[in-house]
Amino acid sequence: MLPEFSLKGKKAIVTGGARGLGLEICRGLAESGADVALMYVSSDKTHDTAAEIGKEFNVTCKAYKANIADAKETQEAIDQIHKDFGRIDVFVANAGISQNGNAETFDLNDWKHLFDVNVHGVFYGVQAVSKHMLEQGSGSIILMSSVSAYLANQPQYQCAYNCTKASVSMMGKCLAYEWGTRGIRVNSVCPGYMRTDMLEQFTSKRPDLAEAWNSLNPMKRMGVPKEIKGAVVFLASEASSYITGSDLFVDGGYTAM
Ligand code: NAD
Repeated sequence: MLPEFSLKGKKAIVTGGARGLGLEICRGLAESGADVALMYVSSDKTHDTAAEIGKEFNVTCKAYKANIADAKETQEAIDQIHKDFGRIDVFVANAGISQNGNAETFDLNDWKHLFDVNVHGVFYGVQAVSKHMLEQGSGSIILMSSVSAYLANQPQYQCAYNCTKASVSMMGKCLAYEWGTRGIRVNSVCPGYMRTDMLEQFTSKRPDLAEAWNSLNPMKRMGVPKEIKGAVVFLASEASSYITGSDLFVDGGYTAM
């Protein structure tokens, strides 16, 4: 491994770290040497998961509970992590939710909830870590966007989700500009369809969706969760020191077609 890819001694936070892509990201960061604070909202078993990751990769890994749609809870958890870990080098804003539906009948409370979690929740976290990173004069922020920030998925309708992810990608670019001379890099990762519980909620009811998504992809398959970690470790590390304001697609070529 080139030394620039190592995260040894770095302190990282991942939101939505209990399962899916977030869990693999926690594992990837720990495997690369970082101490990891894994933020979660629902399952207290996450404390055991964190302990297992810490043991497997010989790093400190601890779980912290916070609903990212609650600004105060998120800020308090992040301040506590900073107190416990001493600094914050990497912040991965991964937690998110999805919901499909026709625009003309989409429930307006659901629309607001998607924005509360996927956009406002991301910003609450970013603002809370920025305070510490700006003080340090360094940090890498990685936002979990989606190919859905750039295209209308098919055949399902998901206007609300796509609007939230377009906001996330734009947030990344604006923050990269704002903090570019102050040591903080901000990038987004845009996954295509990855086999997690988030997709399972759709494909379990409509297996035809998985077939359609595969046929629209040059590699004719969906990604698996561990295929996300390399991109995140790269953006977290010094190997990407001149990359900011970018969207890194991890989509099997989905956006190429
Ligand atoms: P997932 O549903 O498996 O995991 C999402 C995590 O976010 C869960 O641990 C959940 O508890 C957490 N979370 C949800 N609401 C939260 C809240 N209010 N506060 C704190 N945590 C909360 O989903 P995933 O597939 O692992 O997705 C992770 C991220 O990647 C999401 O932002 C998603 O939009 C994005 N993404 C996923 C795919 C995919 O195909 N799976 C594709 C593109 C983008």
